[in-house]
Amino acid sequence: MTGYVVPVSWSVCVLAWLLIVLVDVESVLFTGPALFLLGLVLLVIGALHRSFWFVALGIGHISIVVLFVALVIAYSWSPSDAKDPFAAMSLSYVLFVSPVSFVAWMRRPRGFAPWQCRSCGYALIGLRSGRCPECGTPFDDREVRRFDYARIDDSC
Ligand SMILES: [Zn+2]
Repeated sequence: MTGYVVPVSWSVCVLAWLLIVLVDVESVLFTGPALFLLGLVLLVIGALHRSFWFVALGIGHISIVVLFVALVIAYSWSPSDAKDPFAAMSLSYVLFVSPVSFVAWMRRPRGFAPWQCRSCGYALIGLRSGRCPECGTPFDDREVRRFDYARIDDSC
């Protein structure tokens, strides 16, 4: 479920750029706050699931919105002043954020059991390394150890 916020926030980035170019630069008054909120949601989910990519994406979304607002305030840009720089910046941001979104979505936190790797679902029972052998994501082996002798024949 939590993974959906990644494609939604990516779509808002693309939509924000298209609206600036094709419709009106003042569309950022709607897409900006939406992206800011989605950035906060990504940050919270990333913090809860210790997902680096979600946190990075959240910080990116929040930063780009803050940067837009700061530029308008610093240079007292009118909508016509802002249009070209905003169009260029939002296109750059879409190009930057697309691969990051893809990785974040691939590594989205899923509803895995506590004894599974939270990135890829690999069964970590019996492992002491503290790192998933499949994808390298660190895990808390005290948490996994509690399941060593439990019956776990119903998933994987
Ligand atoms: Zn893994």
